[in-house]
Amino acid sequence: MKTIGLIGGMSWESSAEYYRVINEEVKKRLGGLHSAKCILYSVDFDEIERCQSQNRWDQAGEILGEAAVSLEHAGVDFIVICTNTMHKVIDVIQKKTSLPILHIADETAVKILNQGFKKVGLLGTKYTMEQDFYTSRIKDENIEILIPGGQERMTINQIIFNELCLGKTVEASREYLKAVIQKLVAEGAEGIILGCTEIGLLIKQDDADVPLFDTTMIHALGAVDKALS
Ligand code: GLU
Repeated sequence: MKTIGLIGGMSWESSAEYYRVINEEVKKRLGGLHSAKCILYSVDFDEIERCQSQNRWDQAGEILGEAAVSLEHAGVDFIVICTNTMHKVIDVIQKKTSLPILHIADETAVKILNQGFKKVGLLGTKYTMEQDFYTSRIKDENIEILIPGGQERMTINQIIFNELCLGKTVEASREYLKAVIQKLVAEGAEGIILGCTEIGLLIKQDDADVPLFDTTMIHALGAVDKALS
């Protein structure tokens, strides 16, 4: 079994999910007392969020790059960045380490292609929905992406940073996201990417009429595949 290096803490609410899903899956596949070999480097999210909102992305990349170096020295075999948004700086991180990094959008695109879908909706932070560092990876696979409208993107971003990253699941926000999903489906989305690692804490498959691509689950299970291959 390979050792998984997790860069987490963005937020720790979703990193805890990665840890749980990875261990449950290893136990399911190997049985008995088996559990995952992994090392979690958890950052202070306040520091990272300030870099995001003050447009100091390279600095955030340096911090995560240092985390990757620490994980490499600790002996991990590959790296998993436990957030969609911070894949914006994957190149900065990759410059600091020779270890492979398992890209969350690539793993997600494979799942969408497996379903034969050509058009999906995307929910995530404003950075993930509005910039092209994430959507371009999916579009490169000939998958069309629908994003919510401007006001909706702002509200979703607030739900992520002011509620979910603080461990709050609010019923009104669940209803709001369900309505946004319905709208994207009405526009032709065959599935919805939960492109923020906390959204799965609020929205479950029962909340939608089309398949949901929960990036936390996809990324964590992809890490197990790689660890056991
Ligand atoms: N975990 C979130 C994501 O998947 C948002 C937090 C962050 O900005 O990293 O994008």
